[in-house]
Amino acid sequence: MTCNDCNTPIDPELGYHTAKTLGVALCERHRRLVEKVMAENNTPKEAIQLFYALKDAGAHPMLEWWDGQRSVDIAISRVKLNIDVETEYRNITHEQAIHDLEEAMHSFKNGFTNIRIPHIAITHYLDDTVKYILGIIQGLKANLKVI
Ligand SMILES: [Zn+2]
Repeated sequence: MTCNDCNTPIDPELGYHTAKTLGVALCERHRRLVEKVMAENNTPKEAIQLFYALKDAGAHPMLEWWDGQRSVDIAISRVKLNIDVETEYRNITHEQAIHDLEEAMHSFKNGFTNIRIPHIAITHYLDDTVKYILGIIQGLKANLKVI
């Protein structure tokens, strides 16, 4: 078994443990790094899983990227795509609703595309989730060329 990040051979017990708690098998060093990011940003486990799957697919994702307003779970900077993984389905308040819209406005003004992905899509359809995100990246790239 090897680390999903650096390919270092790892103890199967550590690999099993990190796969269960973080969604991917990681070495001790990367486990600590990822756990620190998760603790600081309240990053869901599914975002870690998706981050590594996108990395494997060659999409060059960044984890917990600061866009000037807030930290987004995953960013694909060359096409200005921000991805947030949603884990809670709350009945939102009116303040939150108008705040979300304002946030969307700032993103669009700055040329960013934001998508929100429910964590259950990642848990059950990781390959399809990656495939569709790669399609979105292609679409954004094509649009950037037109401009
Ligand atoms: Zn590692």
